Amino acid sequence: MDKKTHAFQAEVKQILHLVTHSLYSNKEIFLRELVSNASDACDKLRFEALDQAALYEDAPNLEVRVFFDAEAKTLTIRDNGIGMSADEAVAHLGTIAKSGTREFMARLEGDQKKDANLIGQFGVGFYSGFIVADRITVESRRAGLPADQGVRWSSEGTGDFEVEAIHKASRGTDVILHLRDGEEDFLSTWRLKSIISKYSDHISLPILMQKESWDAEAGKQVKSEDEWESVNKASALWARSKSEVTQEEYDSFYKQISYDTEAPLAHTHNRVEGRSEYTQLLYIPAKAPFDLWNRDKRGGVKLYVKRVFIMDDAESLMPVYLRFVKGVIDSADLPLNVSRELLQESRDVKAIREGSTKRVLSMLEALANSEDAAERDKYAAFWKDFGQVLKEGIGEDHQNQERLAKLCRFASTQAEEGVSFADYVARMKESQEAIYYISADSLAAAKNSPQLEIFRKKGIEVLLLTDRVDEWMLSHLYEFEGKPLQSVAKGAVDLGTLQDEEEKKKVEQAAEAFKPVLERLKEALKDRAKDVRVTTRLVDSPACVVVEQGDMSPHLTRLLKQAGQ
Ligand code: ADP
Ligand code: MG
Repeated sequence: MDKKTHAFQAEVKQILHLVTHSLYSNKEIFLRELVSNASDACDKLRFEALDQAALYEDAPNLEVRVFFDAEAKTLTIRDNGIGMSADEAVAHLGTIAKSGTREFMARLEGDQKKDANLIGQFGVGFYSGFIVADRITVESRRAGLPADQGVRWSSEGTGDFEVEAIHKASRGTDVILHLRDGEEDFLSTWRLKSIISKYSDHISLPILMQKESWDAEAGKQVKSEDEWESVNKASALWARSKSEVTQEEYDSFYKQISYDTEAPLAHTHNRVEGRSEYTQLLYIPAKAPFDLWNRDKRGGVKLYVKRVFIMDDAESLMPVYLRFVKGVIDSADLPLNVSRELLQESRDVKAIREGSTKRVLSMLEALANSEDAAERDKYAAFWKDFGQVLKEGIGEDHQNQERLAKLCRFASTQAEEGVSFADYVARMKESQEAIYYISADSLAAAKNSPQLEIFRKKGIEVLLLTDRVDEWMLSHLYEFEGKPLQSVAKGAVDLGTLQDEEEKKKVEQAAEAFKPVLERLKEALKDRAKDVRVTTRLVDSPACVVVEQGDMSPHLTRLLKQAGQ
């Protein structure tokens, strides 16, 4: 194959420009990205080799090597993973197949902080090499292809890249960075080691660097040619026993797998035995990610089988409403060659999902019900960010509906926020039978609704529901601990025994007295209102519109209209 020049896809050009110009202040992350690509490539090889052992050729030990040439000012990240064919190099390093690129660019352009973690989240990590390099050369050969089908890809990271065939004896990939002037401090074993241990300690293959020793004659450290040592721990954190893992290690593992800069809110780490055997290490983030609302987003839980990485984002491991949970599940039972389709049908996976869901709910309950006010504050903060997503579970996860209902927090006529159903029930009037709520577009609209007048007068608390999902949630939740949930905007509000006999009599008398007026109103509104009644629900307002019990509420009708239904 002759040397061929290809133009980058337009999006790649934009990304390159943005990345090199905006992420400069956090440039060391390029090493994390390239090491993580090398590690992914090894995982992919291990996976493909499960039923094609010949792919290991004569090098079964998967590893990443990082080395530099101070004279030539090059830094190389070498792996013996799956490698790339020429076509794959053109496709993977010249175009962006993933969705969300546009969003990534908008965020980078808008975000004053220039959050370097975005780059890993969006899967454009390779291009971060150009922050420190003015040319990148990639030499690769796909496992299983003959030595003369290697490929050299090379680019200055501007408009185009070149590709040519090369002879490459060993499988895998070398990414060679030709460092820009001024980036010489990356040509230091000490510097590289400290970056690797900061970002890549959890990577479960060895990351090797050349050993250095003091040369008294030369008066400086010199690198050994053939002695390499591992600079990361290379142990799967979740496989260690709880007592051996420190809080710092848990937090830093979380940051590495989630690309979050903040420590997580809570974690749970367990080895589950019994019918299904697996280890789970699950985290709840402190803040919502930008794409929390995307229900199609794949989950944040990685699946391993006996420490072998199987897949990222295995959505069957967590229900959709817990899509914000990050972590690792390592199964001892699943076959290594499990596919996404198989996962969806597997009984073991079902057991894992149920077990993990319960664990996450327990974590949340522990925060919500803690004796410690600081923990409860954490829950309040969690609820602000993730409450709407958790509410989806009320409709989707019947098995845990009651536990989820207990975790819900609302505003009410008595408190701006943080009211649970249990709080409400504890404050119910002696003869009150139902939990009353009103739903509206905003807190202000809910609070000012004329429907509330009678409840205010009688000192009955009403929950104010203003989230978009509330109506939907309540179409699945009819009661809490035996108390029916009742909208104050529906039907004739029957305050039950709370309405005294005398009042009832007054209404009847009024209805009698106003009969002619009611008839005329009914006639005048006959196409627009089903009925016109005398009511006690109002105190100050002259009239209000209500819907029949069992009909859609005005709020839901509006929402559906907005959604074009
Ligand atoms: P991501 O890793 O999220 O896919 P990157 O920009 O980091 O995004 O990498 C783009 C693609 O390039 C990878 O998905 C992979 O197909 C390919 N690639 C990058 N580095 C390597 C490597 N060391 N070995 C094999 N393939 C690689
Ligand atoms: Mg990557």
